[in-house]
Amino acid sequence: MANMTRAEVKAYIEGVVEQVKQRNPGEVEFHQTVSEVLESLEPVLAKSPEFIEKGIIDLIVEPERVIKFRVPWVDDQGVTRVNRGYRVQFNSAIGPYKGGLRFHPTVNESIMKFLGFEQTFKNSLTSLPMGGGKGGSDFDPQGKSDAEVMRFCQSFMTELQKYIGANTDVPAGDIGVGAREIGYLFGQYKRLRDEFTGVLTGKGMPYGGSILRPEATGFGAVYYAVDMLNYFGDDIKGKTFAVSGFGNVAWGAVKKINELGGKVLTISGPDGYIYDPDGVGTEEKIDYMLEMRASCRNRVQDYADKFGVEFFPKQKPWGVKADIMMPCATQNEVGMPEAELMVKNGLKYYVEVANMPTTNEAIAYLKANGVIVAPSKAVNAGGVSVSGLEMSQNSMRYSWTAEEVDEKLHMIMHNIFKASIDAAHEYDLGDDLVAGANIAGFLKVARAMLAFGVC
Ligand code: NDP
Repeated sequence: MANMTRAEVKAYIEGVVEQVKQRNPGEVEFHQTVSEVLESLEPVLAKSPEFIEKGIIDLIVEPERVIKFRVPWVDDQGVTRVNRGYRVQFNSAIGPYKGGLRFHPTVNESIMKFLGFEQTFKNSLTSLPMGGGKGGSDFDPQGKSDAEVMRFCQSFMTELQKYIGANTDVPAGDIGVGAREIGYLFGQYKRLRDEFTGVLTGKGMPYGGSILRPEATGFGAVYYAVDMLNYFGDDIKGKTFAVSGFGNVAWGAVKKINELGGKVLTISGPDGYIYDPDGVGTEEKIDYMLEMRASCRNRVQDYADKFGVEFFPKQKPWGVKADIMMPCATQNEVGMPEAELMVKNGLKYYVEVANMPTTNEAIAYLKANGVIVAPSKAVNAGGVSVSGLEMSQNSMRYSWTAEEVDEKLHMIMHNIFKASIDAAHEYDLGDDLVAGANIAGFLKVARAMLAFGVC
């Protein structure tokens, strides 16, 4: 097939995006990620029209399977409750479906599809053999007793176990699903299936977990940031960071930033943000983040009360002056008003750590105003990478040391940065890390799909 012009490719992509909107009405987060990824593939499709001709783009935006199920459980008062469970098995071209489970009241099919689609490219970037998937429930663990969380997890797994397996689909944690939930889920899977396999990752150390998994997403994000800073002739030492969130991911990032000589000025919660001029830097302060998350109060004001720093209720930290912004909480935390504030403050680096924390409009605005934007699907891939390493250790019936896991994680993050920048250069996109990550992630999956024919 002859090369297509950029205009022809653009029109084709617009048609696919339109079709996705019609087929998935109202699923705005899913539409957002599909537009963002496909638009950045324009130069690839112009150069390699076989991906269009063989229907790869039409296939890649359609999940292989969407599973939706009822999750009944009984609360402590004896009342029957019903939640909805999901598993979106998005793409298995390069390995078993892999992606976390999210328990949060906002979970719906759109959020599951957006996360599964993103995960497909993220997992490809890691260079490990993992397909893309995501799952979860609109169950809210906040305010539930331990026994209620256990009964919910057992009921959820009673249905989910029909569709997953160590060689088929390997879920992990995400928002609302930490070590406790993974323990209850794994216990139920083992009981129902009578097998001990690496069917879940993020497991506790005594039953097959990988060392460094809790730290992996945050550590990996900072390794990526260091490569980015060095590439642009900067150093992390002495740099200031504004971080949002105070969960598992923010905690890992804060820990590693401090180890490497940076300073974290803010962390945030749904209640507002704290500004610590001395930095969230001592062991006591960093450990307190874990305590706040474990308390289930979901309040960052507790940090301000304990350490005597300023608390800004109901505000986000994006107006502070810092060298690097790191959203680590949830999707669409940064829209146009926040992006305008960042540009006004002369921001140079914007490093997405949460999944899709920025609207497409805000990303375009930041880039157009000279801010270097690092995209979440590359930056936060350290978490799933160590999950992939956990799968390898489980298959080998063996455990690596912390140093071995950390070295592998570091190497994977180096490779992700390099693959992204190389792809951007190959397609004459300058140092566009967002497009580079999408292209590098896409190519491996698309080439595998091409090899399979129409299936
Ligand atoms: P957390 O356990 O910290 O949960 C996210 C929290 O963010 C929720 O408690 C939510 O509160 C809160 N929140 C919502 N809006 C805001 C806001 N504007 N400012 C601050 N906090 C807010 O999550 P994780 O640390 O596990 O994950 C954070 C992000 O990183 C997510 O996007 C996740 O998908 C992503 N990620 C996580 C990985 C992991 O290994 N855990 C791997 C890769 C990506 P509320 O409940 O009130 O909405």
